[in-house]
Amino acid sequence: MKEIVCKLLVIGAGPGGYICAIRAGQLGVDTVIVEMTKAGGTCLNVGCIPSKALIHAAEEFDKVRHMASHNALGITVEAPKLDLAQTIRWKDGIVGRLNSGVLGLLRKAKVKIVHGRARFRDGKTVEVETETGTQVIRAETVVIATGSEPVALPSLPFGGAVLSSTEALSLASVPKTLAVVGGGYIGLELGTAFAKMGAQVTVVEAMAQILPQYDADLVKPVAKRLNDLGVRVMTGAKAKGYAGEALEIETSSGKGERIAADKVLVTVGRKPRTEGWGLEELDLDRVGRFIRIDERCRTSMRGVYAIGDVTGEPMLAHRAMAQGEMVAEIVAGRKRTWDKRAIPAVCFTDPEIVTAGLSPDEARAQGYEVRVGLFPFNANGRAMTTQSEDGFVRAVARADTNLVLGLQAVGAGVSELSSSFSLALEMGARLEDIAGTIHAHPTRSEGLQEAALKALGHALHI
Ligand code: FAD
Repeated sequence: MKEIVCKLLVIGAGPGGYICAIRAGQLGVDTVIVEMTKAGGTCLNVGCIPSKALIHAAEEFDKVRHMASHNALGITVEAPKLDLAQTIRWKDGIVGRLNSGVLGLLRKAKVKIVHGRARFRDGKTVEVETETGTQVIRAETVVIATGSEPVALPSLPFGGAVLSSTEALSLASVPKTLAVVGGGYIGLELGTAFAKMGAQVTVVEAMAQILPQYDADLVKPVAKRLNDLGVRVMTGAKAKGYAGEALEIETSSGKGERIAADKVLVTVGRKPRTEGWGLEELDLDRVGRFIRIDERCRTSMRGVYAIGDVTGEPMLAHRAMAQGEMVAEIVAGRKRTWDKRAIPAVCFTDPEIVTAGLSPDEARAQGYEVRVGLFPFNANGRAMTTQSEDGFVRAVARADTNLVLGLQAVGAGVSELSSSFSLALEMGARLEDIAGTIHAHPTRSEGLQEAALKALGHALHI
């Protein structure tokens, strides 16, 4: 049995783990990272990147299809065709390039990479079954970055026609009919993409609203677009099983219904990967199924940290990366603590939704008296010239000091506003700071400036 002794062992090379290992390596910490599948984790291989590639391809196809039938711009095209197998090869090419990039960055930072599944022997020792035998790794400090996996419904186990997001990202052809169980961001992003590629899509959501984490104003343009795309959305409905190429559901009124579905995509949430590799025996404190951490990502066991999806919501790649970077610096002896004011969240639906900080209702629930400014994109020149006027930018601030508490937007391409939103919140901006910043014309970002002006009572373009 081979043995490695190191200062830092990172388990899992997703965005949390690989960033932690790279930063630790840069700071001269003797670091080993163990990964059982491919570098980049869920995000790079079966999450953020492949889903956005598919969404882009579907958008392009839909744009051309739309042009062939409703053409206001004076462009003529033949009816387009989509070869999904080629789209998937293109997507796999991007994933492959990024995989190699991550491995290259780890090597450049002098991180030792071990391929295989880690299993805890004790809090500081793991065994890894590699292709060449068992490798034992002992470390002074361990970072658990094992991420999350899709939750299955007992009535709809994965397999055959019942897919998780992972299989949905590698289909060989577009299903004629697709039922999406779970109207959260993953289900809607993929459901919209398949609808644009030509599938007849039905979304079944148990709650009263799709995207239940967002307020109704933000969701309305997304619901409208789904309707325009011919997607049937059933809220308050529960999936009961799949038989005879149909999804069996119970509607909000308690009636049974069968929905024709060649494929069923189940996106009802993700659970932390905490089982089956000896973690149970460490007896770490938990919050529900997630590992409990403090403001430095320390677990209840000395010298054992946890980062990313395994530590709970929001399960987002950029949160995992920020935690990974912080933990690496702490291990290298720097004084760091989690003091982020905002973790932006983007929903890559059509149109996109971006949020950072508090919504008006959340701010009021926290006892703030608020000023809210909302600027609609139908008063924005750039939105008009790109034929996408749905949506708005909204600014929420304290009524007494004008300190910005939250920023939200829904509209085409608003994901790119996320950095302005986070920067404003991190820097403690007031409405006047945003209103007084020159925003380039004509851009959608002018909507942010106008929303701040509106909250101050003197919007210029509305
Ligand atoms: P993961 O990325 O899950 O990585 C964990 C790694 O640990 C995996 O590679 C796994 O193989 C490895 N591992 C687990 N156990 C062991 C073991 N015992 N031994 C060795 N290795 C092990 N987030 C966003 O911010 N933006 C998005 O647009 C977005 N889109 C998404 C779309 C989809 C379809 C999905 C499913 C997720 C999406 N996410 C998105 C979420 C994002 O992918 C996760 O938040 C992120 O990957 C979490 O990073 P992580 O490092 O915590 O874990």
